[in-house]
Amino acid sequence: MRAPSSAVPVPDEASSSGSSGASRRVGRVVVLGAGMAGLLAAAAAARHVGEVVIVERDRLPDGLEPRKGLPQARHAHLMMSGGARAVESLLPGTVEGWVSAGARRVPLGTGLVAFGPQGWYPRWPSTQFLMACTRDLLDLVVREKVLALPGVVLRQETDALALLGDAQRVTGVKVRTAGSHSAEALEADLVIDASGRGSQAARRLNELGLHPAHEETVDTGMVYVTRIFRAPPGSERFPVVSVQADPHGAMPGQGATMLPVEGGRWLLTACGTRGGEPSREPGEFEPFIRSLRHPLIADLIAGLEPLTDVHLTRSTVNRRRYFERLPAWPDGFAVMGDAVATFNPVYGQGMSVAAHSATAIRGLLAEHGVAAPGLARRIQRAVGRAASSPWDLATGEDINYPGAIGERPPAAARLLRGYVQRLMRTAVVNPVVLRSLYDVMTLSAPMTALVSPPVVLGVLRGPGRDVRNEPSITPAELAVCGLGPRGRS
Ligand SMILES: Cc1cc2nc3c(=O)[nH]c(=O)nc-3n(C[C@H](O)[C@H](O)[C@H](O)COP(=O)(O)OP(=O)(O)OC[C@H]3O[C@@H](n4cnc5c(N)ncnc54)[C@H](O)[C@@H]3O)c2cc1C
Repeated sequence: MRAPSSAVPVPDEASSSGSSGASRRVGRVVVLGAGMAGLLAAAAAARHVGEVVIVERDRLPDGLEPRKGLPQARHAHLMMSGGARAVESLLPGTVEGWVSAGARRVPLGTGLVAFGPQGWYPRWPSTQFLMACTRDLLDLVVREKVLALPGVVLRQETDALALLGDAQRVTGVKVRTAGSHSAEALEADLVIDASGRGSQAARRLNELGLHPAHEETVDTGMVYVTRIFRAPPGSERFPVVSVQADPHGAMPGQGATMLPVEGGRWLLTACGTRGGEPSREPGEFEPFIRSLRHPLIADLIAGLEPLTDVHLTRSTVNRRRYFERLPAWPDGFAVMGDAVATFNPVYGQGMSVAAHSATAIRGLLAEHGVAAPGLARRIQRAVGRAASSPWDLATGEDINYPGAIGERPPAAARLLRGYVQRLMRTAVVNPVVLRSLYDVMTLSAPMTALVSPPVVLGVLRGPGRDVRNEPSITPAELAVCGLGPRGRS
């Protein structure tokens, strides 16, 4: 049975500002999962329907606390400017909210000291930035804003069990709330599955009689470890520091990023691909950091007080489910976020892809309305498009690590890779090329920005011999850590 579009009608912005005869928003969207993707999908839908119900298995914390359903929050989470702008457009005031809660808006590249595979990146200014704070802080601000939107209802400690409907139309979802003995049917015009990498969407669609979606994986076997340190006094404006893994070397890739976070702390995440994995043994953390391609980060943290144990995760595989390619798709159902695509986290893309998907959902709801036949399929295609460039970027690099498991890219993609490698070498000496790289890596521009005429020209000229070999950190920044230009003073 088709879900009724009768959920509480609420006045739209026009009518709440007093215009007579204004349309009323109707319909109900149910979002599965209150992670970043689910919250942003809810924000997108809340403007266009009467009610948005968010179904979340966890009990969500009131403040800045970790939770069971978000184990990855212990590790460095970079919200890139492309994603931050998309979040801001869905929830105005969010960037300011993050900053007032203790985050820093770090400009690229002036606020970044990075040793890439091709050398140290110069600290030239650009229009891009990243947010430096913990994942818990990013979520808290977004959650508070979303839950304050009119028509948004949170059903926490509630498990999504099954889809209602058939292969033509999903009409809702069966849920059970903790402590209740029976399941309950939540009817909806549109169900959005944002339940993360463990999503059961593929299995549930199969149960409705749909074909399985094609799935691709590229797995470097990367292991992530994270430890938080007390930041040294005077480090309030300290840059983000990164020694990146080299996918093109003969050895396993190893790297680390030091992210200054709220509360005067430095969050240090290190990683190593198959054969070069870090361990969760606290005594092995500092030696691992020192053994990286450059010892700068080890020098910076030497003597700093660790505030946590070492946390480890292996959830780094690139996995994409091509739901948008299925020959048939039911109305009333869409999948987004990590449930569609997960990326190796070193590229810092997942939250930004979710934000871009949510803005696409908002646009499609505005254009077609929640009950339009074919809306769900349009959403699924838009979600696939949002994942596409980041997927190519992440897997195109990752497949080169020794021991990486996955399908080799076709010949055309390998040709493009040769170009991208030359581009990365050129970016270290050419500001136009570096800025275009930042535009793409922050998900502010599609991959095609890397083949715009000025960039191609720069890449054709190449890097010359002018590659910088000294860390791009200033003497004043070194002094904050008690270091002189030649080490500890
Ligand atoms: C180690 C690591 C580091 C990362 N670093 C970055 C980074 O630097 N930058 C970046 O942009 N991204 C990063 N990511 C990716 C980022 O965490 C995700 O892309 C982002 O959280 C969006 O995920 P999501 O909302 O789709 O899923 P999740 O965050 O997993 O949320 C899914 C939610 O659904 C709930 N749920 C699951 N099943 C059910 C059910 N049956 N019923 C009800 N609720 C359910 C869960 O409790 C959870 O709250 C990183 C990921 C990892 C693993």
